Amino acid sequence: MKRIYNDINLAERNSFGVVQRAKTLIEFETADDLREIFSEQRPDKWYVLGEGNNTLFTRDWDGVLLTPVARGVSVIDEDDDSMSLRVEAGANWDELVEWCVERGLWGMENLSLIPSSVGAAPVQNIGAYGAEAKDVITVVEYFDTRDLSVVRLDREACSFAYRESIFKHELKGVAIILAVEFKLSKTPRPNLGYGDVIGEVEARGGATLRNIRDAVCAIRSRKLPDTKVLGNAGSFFKNPIVDVAVADRLTAEYPEMPRYALPNDMAHVKLAAGWLIDKAGLKGYREGNVGVHDRQALVLVNHGGATGSEVIALSQRVCREVKSRFGVDIVPEVNIL
Ligand SMILES: Cc1cc2nc3c(=O)[nH]c(=O)nc-3n(C[C@H](O)[C@H](O)[C@H](O)COP(=O)(O)OP(=O)(O)OC[C@H]3O[C@@H](n4cnc5c(N)ncnc54)[C@H](O)[C@@H]3O)c2cc1C
Repeated sequence: MKRIYNDINLAERNSFGVVQRAKTLIEFETADDLREIFSEQRPDKWYVLGEGNNTLFTRDWDGVLLTPVARGVSVIDEDDDSMSLRVEAGANWDELVEWCVERGLWGMENLSLIPSSVGAAPVQNIGAYGAEAKDVITVVEYFDTRDLSVVRLDREACSFAYRESIFKHELKGVAIILAVEFKLSKTPRPNLGYGDVIGEVEARGGATLRNIRDAVCAIRSRKLPDTKVLGNAGSFFKNPIVDVAVADRLTAEYPEMPRYALPNDMAHVKLAAGWLIDKAGLKGYREGNVGVHDRQALVLVNHGGATGSEVIALSQRVCREVKSRFGVDIVPEVNIL
């Protein structure tokens, strides 16, 4: 079933809370709904808007926004060691993580509290605390707007990488994700090697699924502003991946600079964009209604009443300052419309 809204205010549908309007927004459930939309009067301009946690509107949207609202979770396979699930795109990610933790299923707990719809999770291969959605995704099912078919893509074909997938490249503007399939483990697989997770988990009495989820939620709530209080899109910038020679030059000057090795890639190193922004003196910096968060420099915030263009102007300033201080390019992770 479809629900069509015309001239709709988007303030409640984007985590930055910017007040922009859309000409049309259609909530849909099934591939048949999409077939009707794309065969009757194919929209010239469309964008899939999930929960809007990674989308910045800089102007009113004069096309069609398509929002998946089907939220079903079904068990498609199970054995002694694992359970496989099919989850529809409109389901909320953190509710799914909780669902899995309640049932003793391992694999998503480090990704607790990431604000996302399930359909958006493969798009940028959401990740946190040493885990990524690709670790548990087996299949992504999407509607192909070119021939109106439903396609099942297995994990290997999704070209997952750090904050990357085929849905940001070859299938951008083509694929509308309908459902995602996951395989979770019944055998404990604690992944505690990242950041302050291990300390928080030990303080709670050890590496149970529930303790890991609670620890991750506690750390995230301390570090990240609540979007309902202070509009933001989480990390505004991607952590830059640079040549080892560039990282070595910076390490010589700033021995305390964090750097992370990449699996299977000895030639490049990941740097922490938040550290670079902080070191450039921008943490807590404010420009009108927008600013760099005072506890997490990777996050740009709406102090109230900001427009998308103000956020863009600030982000450009941050990129310029980081480039001139360190010679490193940082780029937005957020989708800018
Ligand atoms: C406070 C905060 C913390 C965050 N922390 C993290 C983090 O730790 N790790 C991380 O990886 N991200 C993080 N993010 C970013 C965000 O959680 C992810 O990008 C998430 O996947 C966005 O989901 P959404 O449904 O809100 O996507 P939207 O903003 O609605 O869409 C994001 C992109 O996905 C596309 N898309 C959405 N649904 C579909 C679909 N069904 N089919 C095809 N394309 C689709 C959109 O067109 C767009 O390109 C954070 C954001 C916030 C606000």
